[in-house]
Amino acid sequence: MPICEEPQALRLLEIARTIWHDAGEVTKKSLAERLGMSVSSISRLTDELERMGVIVAVGTHPSSGGRRPAVLGINASLGYTIGLDIGGANTRGIAADLNHQLSSTIRMPTAQALESSDNLLNLERMVRRVINAGALDPHLLHAIGVAISGVIDTNAGICRFCPNIRGFIDLPVRHYLQDRFGVPVIVDDSVRAAAVAEYKFGLAKDMPNFLRVAVGIGIGAAIMLDGQIYRGVDGTAGELGHIQVREDGERCNCGNRGCLEVLASGPAIVRRAQQSMAEGIQTSLETLVKRGQKLTVEAIAQAARQGDKMAFYIMNRTGEYLGIAIATALNLLGVQDVIIGGGVSQAGPILLDAIERTIRFRVMPALAPKVRVHATALDDLAAARGAAWLAAEQLFLPQALAQGHSILDIAGRIQPARNTHHLPQPIQGA
Ligand SMILES: [Zn+2]
Repeated sequence: MPICEEPQALRLLEIARTIWHDAGEVTKKSLAERLGMSVSSISRLTDELERMGVIVAVGTHPSSGGRRPAVLGINASLGYTIGLDIGGANTRGIAADLNHQLSSTIRMPTAQALESSDNLLNLERMVRRVINAGALDPHLLHAIGVAISGVIDTNAGICRFCPNIRGFIDLPVRHYLQDRFGVPVIVDDSVRAAAVAEYKFGLAKDMPNFLRVAVGIGIGAAIMLDGQIYRGVDGTAGELGHIQVREDGERCNCGNRGCLEVLASGPAIVRRAQQSMAEGIQTSLETLVKRGQKLTVEAIAQAARQGDKMAFYIMNRTGEYLGIAIATALNLLGVQDVIIGGGVSQAGPILLDAIERTIRFRVMPALAPKVRVHATALDDLAAARGAAWLAAEQLFLPQALAQGHSILDIAGRIQPARNTHHLPQPIQGA
């Protein structure tokens, strides 16, 4: 039975949401300031949330004297959400409690099947693997977030197309997983989920506006504006990899020529190195190839750091191509912070310096001195963590009350004894 959508329930949910959002940092006083209410009104509401088992004191705040105020968090024993990140090569899955602490992680090569039904079944198996890996109670799973590297229609919960994953075409991910697990499911693009993780747990904690770029097998970007992800029509925003950077460039799988992705993605970097070697340009990488080792972005970046001219030229030029496309985006958005992630971002300072230098040359003079390019500080679980966060958010939205899956409903189901009085009387003057 959903807890009815009365103002009191909405108010409790709003407070629970604020506590969840900044779990481990919120006190009654900071809540009162943020929500424009008196501390005594807030106390009555937080007391009620504590009685319902929704929130608990998770520590004390270091204050300058007197009694240290309690820091509030969501009751971690209520359960967890799961985030999956399906990439072109690798898949990661995590479970996190409602205070954002990880309780299970898995990594494996991405399973790719031609049939949609097999791909959906693989996603279902991934969720079960995350549950099993953490020895978690399946009844305490409350929402699932799935991040996929591709064109994702988040509103419809459908993966439209993935250039680098076979069979992920018009895949009804939300409908299928919701049906299997009976919990809310959110589907989004991997780089957008990673941007959410940057904003919540990474370098962008105090940056409401930034561009998160992922450079790996493909190239994509997420646009964060005023603390909100901008998704565009049917989720098509952020296709940085398909900005043209060379008019006479190679054909791209999108149908155009000279897109950033055919010049600066991981496979493109390797291909350009192979072409240079075929043209007879001297490089230390020859020895590696002669030994039968695979030419990788990592090997090229390492050779560049050790002073190999060809490798340096390739990594530097890659940074310039990226810089051209990113500068175009920054001029359009008026954003100054860029966070680079994905496998290629680990290539080191040669690449990052070339990106930043090129951006400064190409953005408007007023923006140029403010531009900052950062390599991500998060690990490869960033998108999975972002997906789990987006999933958890579903439990704190007003519509969750009507649908019966709000955090108040969950507490009522899991700790019914505490909730026999149902909701309190409306607070006078709150
Ligand atoms: Zn393209």
